[in-house]
Amino acid sequence: MRMKVKVAVNGYGTIGKRVADAINAQKDMEVVGVTKTKPDFEARNAVRKGYKLYAVYEDKIEKFDKAEIKVEGTVSELLAKADLVVDCSPKGIGAKNKEMYAKLDLKAIFQGGEKKDVAEVSFNALANYEKAIGKQFVRVVSCNTTGLARVLYLIKKDFGVKKAKAVMIRRVVDPKEDKKGLVNGISPDPIKLPSHHGPDVKTVLDVNIITAAFKVPTTLMHVHLINIKTEKSINETDVINVFELEPRIMLISGNDGYSSTAKIIEASREFRERYDLYENIIWRDSISVVDDELFITQAVHQEAIVVPENVDAIRAMFELKSKEESLKLTNSSLGIGKIKL
Ligand code: NAP
Repeated sequence: MRMKVKVAVNGYGTIGKRVADAINAQKDMEVVGVTKTKPDFEARNAVRKGYKLYAVYEDKIEKFDKAEIKVEGTVSELLAKADLVVDCSPKGIGAKNKEMYAKLDLKAIFQGGEKKDVAEVSFNALANYEKAIGKQFVRVVSCNTTGLARVLYLIKKDFGVKKAKAVMIRRVVDPKEDKKGLVNGISPDPIKLPSHHGPDVKTVLDVNIITAAFKVPTTLMHVHLINIKTEKSINETDVINVFELEPRIMLISGNDGYSSTAKIIEASREFRERYDLYENIIWRDSISVVDDELFITQAVHQEAIVVPENVDAIRAMFELKSKEESLKLTNSSLGIGKIKL
């Protein structure tokens, strides 16, 4: 039997801690260590959860010692123990870290905050799993792009996509971010179209798409309005049938009281650790076809949706499983498709 893939998680933050837990829930991979720059409560939690903690900067080890948080060494010592690193450092830092990984000839996964040229391929498990097979550097696209790519892949596969438009209403920051935000306003971001999400979708799927985005003062989830002109003519039932078969899509209904993202998160608190939703949450009642154009409203939990994609990317890069097998394993280990809201 093949040994488990040894994974380093460089950057134990919002995405890193979730990716670490998801990797440890798999039978064919394991986390050999995680990193932090500073000895705060997140570092203490990592150790408490049993992760081996490493310091990003050698000259900060003293600070960890003073805080009585055990560190095993520096990031370079961690990387020496790993077959692959999942870089979950803040936007832009991953590209700088790449030099270190390349020198060690180490496989690396980057996150959506990095530009597409950081990696050989941008990745979404449904849209282009095969493109990452055997690759050294892969970038998992951002939360919004993941949400769009899944829907567009499914619609394209069954009905073809002539043209897609999407408006993203984005949570301004994550819940923990107390130093930035938008208290009272709605910010077109960017003001001039298109937002970067459309071009980013095209890195994983060949579709004609234009996107716009607005930031609003909320931290829970993003909401997307997607409008698609399909090649084949369709009706609402056709679309619902396709979505019902895909575990990474969860259909909800306004009749059940899901009147906003607040209610979706409230429900998720009952059954998922940290209320993590790995699925696209699509309002079934929003799915409508008007004058041959499909309309869909969905919510995306930004902190969690990319987590299963990171796990699948590891399997593709080590050629461990086919797309169907990997998605099945990831889904069942994370409870994706088991629970309906
Ligand atoms: P985050 O919560 O700020 O976490 C970043 C982590 O990286 C922290 O643990 C930080 O440690 C660590 N770090 C700082 N400098 C580092 C360095 N030089 N080398 C290695 N690690 C370092 O950020 P995040 O939200 O998880 O975002 C990580 C990546 O995922 C970004 O590319 C982002 O665009 C992308 N992403 C984020 C979201 C989201 O909604 N949050 C969704 C999808 C994709 P200290 O705290 O100790 O400094």
